[in-house]
Amino acid sequence: MSKINKRVLVEGIVQGVGFRPTVYSYAQRHALTGWVLNSAHGVEIELHGEPDAVDTFICDLQEKPPHMAQIHSFQVTDAPTHPFETFEIIESFDDPADFMPVSPDLNVCPDCLGELFEPSDRRYRYPFINCTNCGPRFSIVKRIPYDRPNTSMAEFPLCPDCFGEYHNPSDRRFHAQPVACPVCGPHIWLQVGDKIEAERETAIPSARQMLADGKIMALKGLGGFHLACDAHNNKAVAELRLRKRRSGKPFALMSFDLETIRQFAEVSAEEEELLRSTQAPVVVLDLTERGRALAAIVAPDQNTLGFMLPYTPLHYILLEKSDNYPEVLVMTSGNLSEEPIVTENENALTRLGKIADAFLLHDRPIETRIDDSVLTKIHDLPYFIRRARGYAPLPIPLPMKASTVLATGTHLKNTFALSRDHYAFLSHHIGDLENQETLIAFEKAIVHYQEIFRIKPGMIAADLHPDYLATRYAQQRAVRENLPLVMVQHHHAHISACLAENGWKNDEPVIGLAFDGTGYGSDSAIWGGEILVAHYSGFERRYHLEYAPLPGGDVSIRKPARLALAYLQKFGLLHLAEGLAPFNYLDEIEQQVLFNQVNTGFNTPQTSSMGRLFDAIAALIGLYQEISYEAQNAIKLESIADPDVESSYQFAIEGSQILLEPLFAQIISDLKANVSLATISARFHNAVVNLGVQAAQRLRAETSLNTVAISGGVWQNRRLINNIIPRLKLAGFVPLWHHQVPTNDGGVALGQLLTALYQTGLMKE
Ligand code: ZN
Ligand code: ZN
Ligand code: FE
Repeated sequence: MSKINKRVLVEGIVQGVGFRPTVYSYAQRHALTGWVLNSAHGVEIELHGEPDAVDTFICDLQEKPPHMAQIHSFQVTDAPTHPFETFEIIESFDDPADFMPVSPDLNVCPDCLGELFEPSDRRYRYPFINCTNCGPRFSIVKRIPYDRPNTSMAEFPLCPDCFGEYHNPSDRRFHAQPVACPVCGPHIWLQVGDKIEAERETAIPSARQMLADGKIMALKGLGGFHLACDAHNNKAVAELRLRKRRSGKPFALMSFDLETIRQFAEVSAEEEELLRSTQAPVVVLDLTERGRALAAIVAPDQNTLGFMLPYTPLHYILLEKSDNYPEVLVMTSGNLSEEPIVTENENALTRLGKIADAFLLHDRPIETRIDDSVLTKIHDLPYFIRRARGYAPLPIPLPMKASTVLATGTHLKNTFALSRDHYAFLSHHIGDLENQETLIAFEKAIVHYQEIFRIKPGMIAADLHPDYLATRYAQQRAVRENLPLVMVQHHHAHISACLAENGWKNDEPVIGLAFDGTGYGSDSAIWGGEILVAHYSGFERRYHLEYAPLPGGDVSIRKPARLALAYLQKFGLLHLAEGLAPFNYLDEIEQQVLFNQVNTGFNTPQTSSMGRLFDAIAALIGLYQEISYEAQNAIKLESIADPDVESSYQFAIEGSQILLEPLFAQIISDLKANVSLATISARFHNAVVNLGVQAAQRLRAETSLNTVAISGGVWQNRRLINNIIPRLKLAGFVPLWHHQVPTNDGGVALGQLLTALYQTGLMKE
């Protein structure tokens, strides 16, 4: 039989994941000649050989691609016959018009882990060991194509040994851009103040001693600094909270292995998979008895602990088990209060100088700041609280080909999104745009994403809220670059995001349950308890929580006692509730001022927020009257709910309004009858689930729609999301919920993007 030639183009996450060495070894195995190269499209291959051998090669590559690759398209075409002598890996070329996805950072692979703890290996205990299957990627990329000179490893020339591995097609480190060893690569040191206490091999043993002694350590990791201490040491944890100015918020934890984590938390098979995955996120887990005691220190008011496994070689050496060494380390982001996580040594020494007793530093620069991702499992699917390391900048596939758009996202938990071709690039978690540092990080990250994905936005989408810094950025840029600007209502964007990530293909409407904290409404009120009929390009607000006063705006958000009293006054229930907790928190004068404010409406926005309803009810029943972080009261309320209570309060729906007066009256009457708080909380949670189902049923009767999209920050409440999905299914609905992007505001930019694309007809087949 005569030999043939075929061309193969593979697109997706195919660079930096060991694709070319795999192609090379398959070509050798099937005695094929030709070449493979990285282009700006992806990986391109030309094959010459027997037709059967070519076919088997193609099957092998499709069925057994490199472990970390994600193939989005695989095209095979005929090529003119050309008898190549050998099979070769040829140099990358770059076409500036093309682009491709960039791999996220990858957890240490089993091969590297074996070498890390093998005394005879030349990288024994070397904290930067990596190969084509693992190691830093996105966090070190400066430019594309992904080649060493375009990463922060450019400043570390390869030693002869590493050079040999890097250029040997049959080596696991062939073209591993971050390849390094103790001779030529980055190194670590332990620093206290200006003084270097220990270097290289001695740095980690010294750091471990300090951690065991209860010290707080700032350590430079993959995408930024962590602050670490012994999670069992009350004093160290309390000191960390004080110095970091972080009162009640839970800390993320790290242990050496799963066996240790299991002592403190229940780990299901799906959760184990997530913990062990190459993304290695923080996974929110239910407590064991031992975990309860630990949570009292590191995660007050939580029924859960957020654990992760080590994900860099440095973590493995730092966490390694031994006698009298902490089993669990707090590993919280290295920042002051709500500022962005610190990434540079000098900056760390200044900004974290008053928090950390010592610094474990290294000299590999971090190009992109990236936080740990935080996930849980809902009905066997991942559920994002924060999407960052390991996931960003993986694109969300779009249902159709799109033009280039920038969506700037929201104020809290900001992410932004950019579209090109079949991809939406949702950025990693940027943070709350409430200070200059975070705003700068936001602007820098937009520029970086535009560069590495070669996207020049032809349109900008933003939240309706006129005061959001993200909206202002969008407005200024639209003017400066003369671009069309599309303003998208917050809850509409939430529902669009849920549709997009579920692959909803056309601009057909669904029922949307947007239960949320804060979003600017089309009528300028603060929305958040919204039941919509929505499609990508538009929405109708069908039902919403009746408006309640928010006297003084943010003051009442921080002090839910004020909310509780304002709601009671509005619903004419003050006389029934006399003597309850919020009355004792505010003195007579404060109460009078508050009631006047509600009466006159002075500086009192109106809100239909579901998040605020949770806050007010938690305060009413005696939980926090003042909170130190967003959602603290809702988290507490969820944590005390009795899992076995099935009874429920009732919301009443009148016209488009969901009335709250009956709900408050039922709760007050339960409080007076000394019903337990666990039961009251459970009945309230059940009522919110019932409201969602009943409203969906009403809308189905009116519209015949049968798909229900669930989005908004309130759905981070695990009891609510876990309960509503089976209830909707039982009622014959098709529920859609989030599993690729957060249900909170971290997913909104994706929805803005889709709404802008559909509204302007820029989605094309
Ligand atoms: Zn490896
Ligand atoms: Zn080397
Ligand atoms: Fe929201």
